[in-house]
Amino acid sequence: MPARLQTCTVFVAFIVCSAVCFAQNTTTTVPPVIDVHVHAMEDSFPGIGPMCPNTSKFTASDPKAKEAPFGWVQEECTPKLYPSAKGEYVKDVIAEMKRLNVTAVVFGDPKTVKIWKDAAPDRVIPGTSFTTGMQPGGRVPIEELRKDFTQDGFKVMGEIGLQYEGLSPSDPSVDKYFALAEELDIPVAIHMGTGGSGRANITSPKFRGSMGDPLLLEDLLARHPKLRVQVMHAGYPMIDNMLTLLQANSHVYVDVAGLIWSYPLKEVNRYIQRLVDAGFEDRVMFGTDQLIWPNLMSYSISIIQNADYLTPEQKRDILYNNAARFLRLDKTPAK
Ligand SMILES: [Zn+2]
Repeated sequence: MPARLQTCTVFVAFIVCSAVCFAQNTTTTVPPVIDVHVHAMEDSFPGIGPMCPNTSKFTASDPKAKEAPFGWVQEECTPKLYPSAKGEYVKDVIAEMKRLNVTAVVFGDPKTVKIWKDAAPDRVIPGTSFTTGMQPGGRVPIEELRKDFTQDGFKVMGEIGLQYEGLSPSDPSVDKYFALAEELDIPVAIHMGTGGSGRANITSPKFRGSMGDPLLLEDLLARHPKLRVQVMHAGYPMIDNMLTLLQANSHVYVDVAGLIWSYPLKEVNRYIQRLVDAGFEDRVMFGTDQLIWPNLMSYSISIIQNADYLTPEQKRDILYNNAARFLRLDKTPAK
């Protein structure tokens, strides 16, 4: 993984750098970051405009209204995050990943993930799942999935979106997929918790908040004791049950993707701080849920970097070391 970015561009070098700069080929090391939750979109998700991250409120909708707006409250803010121009999304996000020294687990159907892997082979860890999108019931044949992991280089099984179908992760109908992950020693990444404002009303009538309860993972974990689980969105907002699960199952990790930018900042920090203060600082992983706005990555990293309740070591653990351990990427902690 290249960890060094050249800082002396021709222009900057000409204006700022002395001859020593040229002679020593001065570089600045940007500490590496792992984003464990990126979606392999080919373009910015259609139909969604600029977004105000960490919105301060969620407004009510009226069932009489023809079409209620999904997701993000329209309000004025700085910074506003913008979608990419048509056809530019993959290029824009990968440019951000290089600038910020990010390696990402990129989830999606194998064909689209390959576009990302080909565009940035050293920075993309491929992930794919047995659920097909957010529409209920679609399943990938198990032998096809086995091939993805044994022959085609996929490393993580996710995003598993059973909550959108109103299904528990311990539902027997999907157990064979988790058995496969355990057999192949592939970590699984399961959506648990937040679904965005008004999810059940508007886009996903089968979505159930209750199916994001982290304790619903207990039966699955009991059946598959060697399964490595990434609880996506950290079971937000069910902190007590999340802590209960982390306490009882010491190989479970969480990611803070999605929640880190889509709820009020004070609330986000309080949630992450609860996880850390409860003693689970080595199991919190950074993630974005990147799918529309390329600048989301730098914005989300800054929330961890600006968290005054985290020590510099805890920030590095969340931004890199915990994910490297979970994914078994390397054994050397990154400073
Ligand atoms: Zn999710």
